[in-house]
Amino acid sequence: SLSVEGKHVTVAGLGVSGISAARALAGLGASVTVVDGGSGELHKERAAALEADGISVRLGDAESLPDATSLVVTSPGWKPSSPLFAAAAEAGVDVVGDVEIAWLLRGPDAAPWLAITGTNGKTTTTQMLASILRAAGLKTAAVGNIGTPIIDVVLEGDDAYDVLAVELSSYQLHWAPSLRAHSAAVLNLAPDHLDWHGSMEAYAADKGRIYEGNQVACVYNVADKATEDLVVEADVEEGCRAIGFTLGTPGPSELGIVEGLLVDRAFVENRQKNAQELAEVADINPPAPHNIANALAAAALARAYGVQPTAVREGLRAFRPDAHRISHVEDVEGVAYVDDSKATNTHAAEASLAAYESIVWIAGGLAKGATFDELVQKSAKRLRGAVLIGADRALIAEALARHAPDVPVVDLERTDTGAMSAAVREAARLAQPGDTVLMAPACASMDMFVNYNKRGEAFADAVRALAAETA
Ligand code: ADP
Repeated sequence: SLSVEGKHVTVAGLGVSGISAARALAGLGASVTVVDGGSGELHKERAAALEADGISVRLGDAESLPDATSLVVTSPGWKPSSPLFAAAAEAGVDVVGDVEIAWLLRGPDAAPWLAITGTNGKTTTTQMLASILRAAGLKTAAVGNIGTPIIDVVLEGDDAYDVLAVELSSYQLHWAPSLRAHSAAVLNLAPDHLDWHGSMEAYAADKGRIYEGNQVACVYNVADKATEDLVVEADVEEGCRAIGFTLGTPGPSELGIVEGLLVDRAFVENRQKNAQELAEVADINPPAPHNIANALAAAALARAYGVQPTAVREGLRAFRPDAHRISHVEDVEGVAYVDDSKATNTHAAEASLAAYESIVWIAGGLAKGATFDELVQKSAKRLRGAVLIGADRALIAEALARHAPDVPVVDLERTDTGAMSAAVREAARLAQPGDTVLMAPACASMDMFVNYNKRGEAFADAVRALAAETA
């Protein structure tokens, strides 16, 4: 439990999670100061609103530790190397994140957490899990890195939920030393956000935090040995089991696929049987390989919590993915146009390229230090053509020249917002009936767009404009 009454707590960051943390801590009697390096209009507005409620805000200085601070609560974006944390370490003051605060604020009868992390698929899997839990008649919510700030969810009280589906980023895990989930899954591990964590090892170690102290199951990806290694390294409660998920035939402690069915061999109620059928692959939206893996991980966590097979099936059938995640926009002249703007790294783009046979690929943006050779090598045979936009498009062009020299590439040499509509037109010229034009950029969007949502909307608008012209 956590007692902050009368203490001086410093909150790092005046964003959504910082504001939620500041208000919650002030409500618990702490004397709160929010610090933020920014000082623009938006910051001033937010500061005024907090100050009206008795919370101090210090703008324009993100580095020095306010006097008398006895705890620092950080927002996800702040790097561990931030000067404020060095100052805290020097003063012997703990630094924790919103998830740690939420965890410590839970009452004795609070809902257990089923936790999910991974490089890609977190949001989808968390929402699938919540859908399954709901189908089982449980009071639940998809929270953490999504939805209502997790501190606010916990402050609703112990009775508000039976069980929570919690998406956790590597940042949140880094700052949540006390968290002990009922069960947890690491979906996959690929290089991402290494600028924040410093190294792949540090990134993996932060992801592995999610298994520490698990009570019932540590769910890992059989196809991704690094996730299994993290289970082996974790210190768990007695009786906690390692449960694998696989797109192949499942072994005795695994969930997997047999003849188009999701099959559970890890949690089998009826001793006469050695496997339990859960659902059909066709129940999953969309039934692409990576998404079947997500469904298996969600099913494993639900089963660890005791959910019945019928509810797994119902929950998966009821699930619809969020926008910009392999979203089919429209067919134009026999060509399908698919928006996977959320594919902001090469691992995600690889998954969506694997889901189609003959593809005109729209790619490019901010590479965040990534290389594209492996992605292009694995996908080359599926490419009808490629259209490149964005700041780091040359990196992709070079990889295509090396590994897919026969694939026609159009480099638009543009980084303006209007480039997306030009890209769709070029893609339409390259595509043949039966092909898929797939916008899965393998890059972040901020060189051209406010965020990946805006990028996806620009694509969808361009596709609809094309459809209107050809109609
Ligand atoms: P996250 O919350 O981890 O960012 P999302 O569920 O929002 O993940 O999916 C992000 C993107 O990652 C999707 O658009 C898709 O391209 C890709 N993706 C989803 N699940 C997986 C997976 N299991 N493996 C690889 N890529 C995936």
